[in-house]
Order: sequence, then C-alpha cells, then structure tokens
Amino acid sequence: MTSIETPILIVGAGPVGLALAADLGTRGVPCLVVEQGDGTPDHPRASVLNARSMEFMRRLGLADAIRRDGTPEDFPHTALYCTTLTGFEIARIERPHHGGRGASADSPERPQRCNQIWLDPILRARAANEDGVSLRYRCRFETAAEHADHVLATVHDLASDQRIAIVARYLVDCSGGHSPIRRALNIDMNGSNYLGYFLSVFVRAPELWTHHDMGKAALINFVEPKGLWRNLISLNGRELYRFGIRGKAYYDAPEKVDTERLFNEVVGKRVPHEIISVRRWTARNVVADKYHAGRIFLAGDAAHLNHPAAGLGMNTGLGDAFDLGWKLAAVHDGWASASLLGSYEIERRPVGRRNVGHADESHANDREQQPGPAIADATPDGARARQALAAAIVPAQTRKVITDGLALGYRYDPSPIVWPDGTPAPADTVTDYRPTARPGSRAPHIFLAPDRSTLDLFGQSFVLLRLGTQAPDPSPLAGAFAQRGVPLTIETIDNPAVAALYERALVLVRPDGHVAWRADAVPSDPPALADRLRGASA
Ligand SMILES: Cc1cc2nc3c(=O)[nH]c(=O)nc-3n(C[C@H](O)[C@H](O)[C@H](O)COP(=O)(O)OP(=O)(O)OC[C@H]3O[C@@H](n4cnc5c(N)ncnc54)[C@H](O)[C@@H]3O)c2cc1C
Repeated sequence: MTSIETPILIVGAGPVGLALAADLGTRGVPCLVVEQGDGTPDHPRASVLNARSMEFMRRLGLADAIRRDGTPEDFPHTALYCTTLTGFEIARIERPHHGGRGASADSPERPQRCNQIWLDPILRARAANEDGVSLRYRCRFETAAEHADHVLATVHDLASDQRIAIVARYLVDCSGGHSPIRRALNIDMNGSNYLGYFLSVFVRAPELWTHHDMGKAALINFVEPKGLWRNLISLNGRELYRFGIRGKAYYDAPEKVDTERLFNEVVGKRVPHEIISVRRWTARNVVADKYHAGRIFLAGDAAHLNHPAAGLGMNTGLGDAFDLGWKLAAVHDGWASASLLGSYEIERRPVGRRNVGHADESHANDREQQPGPAIADATPDGARARQALAAAIVPAQTRKVITDGLALGYRYDPSPIVWPDGTPAPADTVTDYRPTARPGSRAPHIFLAPDRSTLDLFGQSFVLLRLGTQAPDPSPLAGAFAQRGVPLTIETIDNPAVAALYERALVLVRPDGHVAWRADAVPSDPPALADRLRGASA
C-alpha cells in the first residue's frame, strides 16, 4: 500500500474543510484534504455568509471574489411572507445592512449571499493556491487508528482503485453530517428531538419578479392555511432559486412529487421555468457530545447539525475552522503543546450549542404557525387573518433572519486560554451586536483608514495593541512571548476612537482575532500570561 505523511489530514472538501486547508496554508502548515466527490457542486445548499464569515473570507483575500460571484449588490435581502407570489403579501422584513459594500458600523464586511455552488470552488482555488495544501478528490476516507504520536488513516483512491495509508499528526473530520469518523469514534449527537423531512428543488425561473408585484426578495416564505411549508430562496439574484418543500410524504417518494405543480402553486400562475435537480434531505438540530477524541477533531456539520432556517450551519462551521487553524499551526510550529488544542472544544462547542438552539427555536416558530383557512381569502376575514399573522410572526422571524448578535457577538467565555479582566459580560442578544473588547470577544472593528479595519491587523501572530502614545512599554510582555517563541506583533495606534472602543491601553489579540487579555498596565507576571495564552497552563 502506498503511504503518505502529512502533519494534518482533513477529511472532506466542503466549505469547512477547504477553509481550514486555506487557513493552514496561509500559516505555512502543510495539510492534505481527501474528498470522496469530484468537487463539482451540483445542487445548492448554504447561501448566506454572515458578517463574521465574510471577515474570515476577507482575511483569505476572498471577499471581493465572493461578492463578484454572489448575489448582485443591489439585490434586496428582503424576507417576504405571502400566500403566493400573485396572492396576498402578509409581511416583509428588510435587511438593508446585508449585502453590498457600504460601510457597516460593526464590521468591514457585510453579510453576503453566495451559494455553495459558487463559494466552494472559490475556496477550493484558494486552498489549492497554497504550496503546502494538497487536495485529493475522488478519494474516500475509510479508517483511522490513533497511535501515540500520529493517526494512521486509510483512504480509497476511487480513480485508481488503490488503498493509501496516510500518517498524520492530527486528523480533522470535516466530512459533514453523515461523518463516518464521528460514528467510528462512537460520539453521539444530542439536542432537539426534531427531525424534519424536506425536498430541495433547484429551479431556473428567469425574471421571475416581472411576473408578480411583490418585487425582488432573497427569501420568500409561502403562508398557507396549514402553515409555512414551502419557501423560495434566490440564489444569484437572477434566474436561479432553491424551492424548499417540507413534508415526509414528499421526502419518502420524491419521484412521485409533481414539483412543477407545487412550483406553479406558489407562484400562483404558470411562468417560464425549468427544474434543474431535486434532492431530499432531513434536518436535525443536534451537537456532537465531544468535538475531539485524542488526535482527531470534528468541525462543521460533522460536529453540529441544524435546520438552515437561520442560516447558521456553514457559518458556525467556518468559525470552527478559524478557531482550530491557528491552534494546529501553533502546535505544528512548536510554540504550543497539544494542550492548546484542548481549548478548541471548550471554545467552540458552546457556540455550536447556542447556534443550533437558535436554529431549532427559529424553525419551531415556522412549524407552529396555523394561519387557518381564511388566510388566502379576499374577504375582511382574510385580511384580519393576514394582519394577525403578520403581528404574530414578525418579531420571531426577525430573530430568525437577523442574527448579527450571534454572528459577531459570540465569545469564548470561559476559556482556558483567555485571561478574564473581571468586567461583567455584556448582554447576549441574537439580533443586535454590541461591540466590546472584553477578553474572549471578537476584537471589534473600526476603520483606521478607508477600507483598513482594525481587523486587518489580526491573523498571523498575536497582536499587542498599544493604544495611545502614552501606553506602557510592553517590553516585559514581548520578552515573555519571545522566550517561548510565540509570534507577537506590536501595533501602536494613536486614535482616540480605537482607544475608546477597546477601553484599555494594552490589548492582546489572538491570531483568530479574539481578545485574549487587556489591561492598562503590563501584567505582574508576563510569563504566566504568555503560558496561559498558548495553552501551556491549561
Ligand atoms: C438545503 C440546505 C440549505 C442550507 N442552507 C444553509 C444556509 O443558508 N446557511 C448556512 O450557514 N448553512 C446552510 N446549510 C448547511 C450547510 O450546507 C452546511 O452546514 C455546510 O455545507 C457544512 O459544511 P461542511 O464542510 O461541514 O460539510 P459538507 O459541506 O457536508 O462537506 C462534507 C464533505 O465531506 C465529504 N465526505 C463525506 N464522507 C467522506 C469520506 N468518507 N471520505 C471523503 N470525503 C467525505 C463529502 O463528500 C462532502 O463534500 C444548508 C444545508 C442544506 C442541506
């Protein structure tokens, strides 16, 4: 059997595996990605990169490419609720701060729609562009066995029908919801009892909005007497859509489903369109009991699954990748021991549980709606039913489709590699993000110059921000980091707005852009701080 050695083996070239590979590549850490498919996306899945994911893409230099291939800037991110497209409008939620390039107070990047059909190839090209990253498609992972200082995996190269042995220091399971690795490790997933059955129909319907008066909308939910069972998601702001249909009968016999009829029903009349493909899928809202076992780590859908109602699945997975990437690089480069990797589960699993919980709550709200028989009637009773439903659903649906608090406000608290400053935790909200530089939080954004954000300072090393020309001499801290080989960059910024936002004269930011420590004076024991931050005292 052929044998290959690699520091990091990534199983699965979905968005999470590819983003992790690209991140490791930028850090100079070689890795090998094995993917059973041939890398040709054939059916749409996730459509929305939230602002945090777009910040990660900005770091990889991909934000412009994603805007270019995603939904055009002027396409509204409206969530519309109607009986049919030619029927009655019930409610709409506007999201003016989503999409496009205009400045946002909270982030240098806005949420952007770019379906995985276009996103995955962008990530693939970016990962392949790194010298240290090898991508092997049509290569199926089969087994993994852990040894004292490595993992021995076997993969099946489907093109040559050869078995290959791969010796890796660490294996990251990015193989999605059906993960064979998580199953082999006997790691259960727990959470909500909900199990939903769906059909996803990929449709081409050119200029659909010229056939009705509701205008363009990114997400169209159809309200029927028995509830919210169907939706239509614009994929590229032009002719492509994903038509979602809920129901076990449809799932059980997709070949018997008259998708043409169902599509014509929600439009309310016949319009030119073509069904491109139909897939069935189940939705669960669950989180793995463990995110790692020894040298094997779970990320993305392998670690957490949720109904896409709130658009959180891929975004949560990208967060996993960017938390794990710098930690694997630190261990590979020798300035951290394996104990740093223990912080991955401690930091990311609570985020997974929170996001999955929110998705569960959001989709439960869809399922609980019982609009009643009058909802589509052109009568006073029908008008009253529509008004009542709008009043009932808008608050919950706003929490479903506007999740800036979840996207930017998540924090690692407590974390063994963050030094708390004793300040109280800010309120945790789903819809609104409140900037804070409290340790554990994402270091907040503020523009230092046109299109140069504070976030652009972070990524490769730890960064010590000295805020104001009077900020203390950081030499003792720099010395402790240097002694341990921990990469540190010092940035002195004389900008009152940054000082006010970050609230302390010295702020240490990790390579993933989260605040690790802050104070107005150098710490009394710099070696202890450096050791905590690199996981040596965890
Ligand atoms: C209909 C639908 C709509 C969605 N909408 C959204 C949305 O709007 N927003 C959002 O954030 N998320 C959404 N999601 C979820 C999103 O698609 C997933 O969260 C995301 O794809 C997870 O990425 P991943 O890389 O973890 O896994 P995947 O994308 O599933 O990738 C896993 C990869 O591993 C490969 N693999 C599996 N087993 C093996 C093996 N043995 N050997 C080698 N390779 C293997 C698979 O072929 C696959 O390519 C949606 C999902 C669905 C189904």
